[in-house]
Amino acid sequence: MLTLGEIYSGESTAISVEIFPPKTPDGDQALFDTLDRLAVFQPDFVSCTYGAGGSTRDRTIELCREIQSRYRLAATAHLTCVGSTRDELVEWISRVQAAGIGNIMALRGDPPQGDETFTAVAGGLEHANQLVELIRGVSSDLGVGVAGYPEVHPEAADATRDLENLKRKVDAGADAVFTQLFYVNDSFLRFRDRCGASGITVPVVPGIMPVTEFSRIQRIATLCGAKIPGELSDRLEAVQDDRDAQLAVGVEYAVEQCRELIDAGVPGIHFYALNRSQACARILEALGWNTSSESSGEW
Ligand SMILES: Cc1cc2nc3c(=O)[nH]c(=O)nc-3n(C[C@H](O)[C@H](O)[C@H](O)COP(=O)(O)OP(=O)(O)OC[C@H]3O[C@@H](n4cnc5c(N)ncnc54)[C@H](O)[C@@H]3O)c2cc1C
Repeated sequence: MLTLGEIYSGESTAISVEIFPPKTPDGDQALFDTLDRLAVFQPDFVSCTYGAGGSTRDRTIELCREIQSRYRLAATAHLTCVGSTRDELVEWISRVQAAGIGNIMALRGDPPQGDETFTAVAGGLEHANQLVELIRGVSSDLGVGVAGYPEVHPEAADATRDLENLKRKVDAGADAVFTQLFYVNDSFLRFRDRCGASGITVPVVPGIMPVTEFSRIQRIATLCGAKIPGELSDRLEAVQDDRDAQLAVGVEYAVEQCRELIDAGVPGIHFYALNRSQACARILEALGWNTSSESSGEW
C-alpha cells in the first residue's frame, strides 16, 4: 500500500475520501455500502477519523485494516492527542504499523464540548507538531498528514501565527497538509500561496465537503469557521424544502469548486464524505473520473 509521500509524488490529481467509524450495526452497513459505491472510482486512499475524546481508538484501526483488505485501497488512520499520554500514543502508533497501515493523520483534536481551550492530559501532548515528532520518533516510513486552515483555525491568534504553527508540523516531518473544508476557493488559493511563501513545500490538499443538507452544513461550517458564500446560500435557500434539490445544488457547486481547483493545479482533493456516497459519486462522475482504471486514475 502506498504512503502519502508516494501518493502525491505523481503527476495525476489524487482523490481521497474521509469516513468516520459508525456507532451502530446499521451505520456499519451504510458505511460499507458507501465504500462499495466509491471503491469503483479507485480513490488513492480512504482516511478514517478518530472519534472525539479518543472514543474510537480501536475502531479506527479495525476499519482501516478492513478497508485495506476488503477493497485493496490504502488507508490513513487519524489520531488525536485527546485523552492519551505520550506512552499510549506510541503504543497506538505501533499498533497501526503492526496492522500494516501506512499512514497517520496527526491531529491535536478539539477541546471537549463546552470548553474553549484544549488541555492536555498529564503526560500528554499540547499540539499536533509534538504528535508528528512522536510519530517520526517511532518511524520514518509512515506517511504523515496534518491539518491546515485556509480560513484560519478558530483558536489561532491570527493567520500569521496559524501559518507558523502549520510550518512547525511540516518541519516536524509531515508529508502533506489536508485543509479544513471551505466553500470559497480564493481562501484556499491565497492560503496555498502563503504556505509556499513561508517555505511549506509539501502538497497542500484542499478538503471538500459537498452540501447534502443546508441546515447540517450550516452547523458544521459554524463550528469550524468556514464561510458559506452568499451565492451558495441563496441557491440553497431557494430550495429549502426539497432535499433532492439541495443535494443537486450541493453537487453542482462542489463540481464547480473541484474543476477550478484542478485547473489551479492542486495535488489532490480530499472529500469529507460523511459516510455517504451519493454526493461524492455524482461529483466524481461529473468530473469524468475513470471508474474502470485499476490503479490511480487520471482526470
Ligand atoms: C483534515 C482534518 C482531519 C481531522 N480529523 C479529525 C479527527 O479524526 N478527529 C478529531 O477529533 N478531529 C479531527 N479534526 C479536527 C481537529 O482536531 C481540530 O481542527 C483541532 O481543533 C485542531 O487540530 P490540529 O491538529 O490542527 O491542532 P494544532 O496544529 O495543534 O493547532 C491547534 C491550534 O493551536 C495552534 N498551535 C499549533 N501548534 C502550536 C504550538 N506549537 N504552539 C502554540 N500554538 C500552536 C494553532 O494555530 C491552532 O490554533 C480534523 C481536521 C482536519 C482539517
